[in-house]
Amino acid sequence: MADIITLLPENIANQIAAGEVIQRPASAVKELLENAVDAGASEIKLYINDAGKSLVQVIDNGKGMSETDARMSFERHATSKIKNIDDLFHIKTMGFRGEALASIAGVAQVELKTKKTGESVGTYIEIENSIVKSQQPVATDEGTNISMKNLFFNVPARRNFLKSNASELRHIVDEFIRVSMSFPSIFFSLTSNGQEVFHLEKGSLKQRIIQILGNNYSSKLVSVKEETDYMNISGFVGKPETTKKTRGDQYFFVNNRFIKSAYLNHAVMNAFSDMIAKDSFPMYTLFIDIDPSRLDINVHPTKQEIKFEDEKIIYAFVQSAVKHALAQYSVTPTLDFELDSAIQHTEAVSQPFTQDKQFAATGSSLYKTFTQKNQAHFIESKSDIGHWDANLLQQNLPEKKSLKIELALENVGKSSDDYFQNPLKNNHQVIASKKPTTEDFIQIHKSFILAQNENGFIVIHQQNAHERILYERFVNAIKGKPISVQRSLFPVTIELAPADAVLLADLLLDLALLGYQVENFGHNTFVIQGSPADITDGNEKAALEKMLEQYKHFNMEASFSKREKLLRSMAWQQSVKAGTLLSEKELNTLVEDLFNCEINNTTPNGKPVFLEFKKEELGKMFGR
Ligand code: ADP
Ligand code: MG
Repeated sequence: MADIITLLPENIANQIAAGEVIQRPASAVKELLENAVDAGASEIKLYINDAGKSLVQVIDNGKGMSETDARMSFERHATSKIKNIDDLFHIKTMGFRGEALASIAGVAQVELKTKKTGESVGTYIEIENSIVKSQQPVATDEGTNISMKNLFFNVPARRNFLKSNASELRHIVDEFIRVSMSFPSIFFSLTSNGQEVFHLEKGSLKQRIIQILGNNYSSKLVSVKEETDYMNISGFVGKPETTKKTRGDQYFFVNNRFIKSAYLNHAVMNAFSDMIAKDSFPMYTLFIDIDPSRLDINVHPTKQEIKFEDEKIIYAFVQSAVKHALAQYSVTPTLDFELDSAIQHTEAVSQPFTQDKQFAATGSSLYKTFTQKNQAHFIESKSDIGHWDANLLQQNLPEKKSLKIELALENVGKSSDDYFQNPLKNNHQVIASKKPTTEDFIQIHKSFILAQNENGFIVIHQQNAHERILYERFVNAIKGKPISVQRSLFPVTIELAPADAVLLADLLLDLALLGYQVENFGHNTFVIQGSPADITDGNEKAALEKMLEQYKHFNMEASFSKREKLLRSMAWQQSVKAGTLLSEKELNTLVEDLFNCEINNTTPNGKPVFLEFKKEELGKMFGR
């Protein structure tokens, strides 16, 4: 029998390798930006067309490459950054695997122009599908100018897998922010389809945070800085009043590399715990500097996960550094956790951390509390889904068996907008019999409404009911029953953080159907020309901002379509909140509207709208 094993051709091997490194345009953005940083650039410009699907280009003024290096850079495992295995433990650069350019060249059309500092002529290379199409001398600036065109042109299956432009652009902005945040001394810009979205002048970290996350943080940042022999931490946390409903503005960098760590996030959240509401998220941008030999950054191909030699020490250190910072700025006058005794005297804060002290620290009570607590943190982070309160549903929903599941299926997995062709008719039976039979409604605690019905009585949650009503109204608006608009006499201007501006710009058409006439004036500025007639004058800006916050909250869940998220956010934002006194007329309208809804017993997010108490059950409870 003939032998059957062959070596894969290089281009196929590269395409396969690319699967790990280059998943989407944003992955290329990350790799190319990091290469520019590694090349010592002081100015890095990123250009994107079609959310990176047709073009990702990075121009840097770094050290450039020689002709040979330029050609070599596209080979697999070609790197100038490590030479042997020992070097892996002393990494100071962002890259080191030597895979990025090879992968990119395997799945796109690449043009590279590069010139070493001090040389008179540079090198031009055109490569696609791992095959060099052209290589020649070229006149170009010092530094490197690399374009990746038509990503996955040769791997249609993966090209089809890419998400909408809005979603891919969002990923790109995330990567751009992660790199630019950690190098405030480098100028960065991001231009998307010819429009400059970010323009980040060199400056301090504080300035960079404000440039990226918005001016509202300007006097609201608390500096965190602790230095020990073992590690240093520096950066900023937002004062407690700046917390948001979204986790978005949270950044951890270890040796300048952005990492995702539920564990370290938990340490920060713990430091804030007494000062902020549950379900709210403080901003933080924290940098840990630690001897690279105490890390393994090689655990994940995109290097976003890191293994620490001793996670627990890091946890204690992060938590106490943040607590310490918050206490020093005494951001809340009533601040009253046992900071002085328990925290100040923690080794991690008060003294340099040496090897033998590590051991002592692990016996401390502080250490014990966090090790116990962090058992729960994975569970906690799952409950981010926030608006899904499965327990509540299980206990309280009248038709508890399948309705919850049905509702879940109603939205999950329907990420395309065609969901809206028939959004409300998903086999839900309307529970008409529950409808109140009188019009004497009683509002209690400005939050609930009691109403008698055929079977007994129901308790309606006023906000949940209103969310349902508004949601259905908005669905109908999208289907062609427009919401009436009130033109602003004095149009209000909003300026947003660049990342939010990208989001809002993408929602303008749908917002128009929902009664918001908003114009994009460029430079992250929008003008509200009209708002839904229900929104009181002067509130339109706050309303829109809150809506956007909520939208970002939903954004964490990829499974909803853009529209769905928008509708839910609007419904939540405009709903009457608990604590609002309602007039008799308002109570009547609310209940009436609720029972005219196609679905009246759950909010769009699956929370119950009312609970029913049956006459017989009540009787039984009283022993009758
Ligand atoms: P890695 O960054 O892991 O070394 P890459 O495939 O990203 O691997 O890059 C390969 C090599 O090409 C780098 O080690 C570096 O020497 C060179 N290189 C890539 N991009 C640039 C750039 N913008 N400026 C200078 N050299 C670069
Ligand atoms: Mg690299």
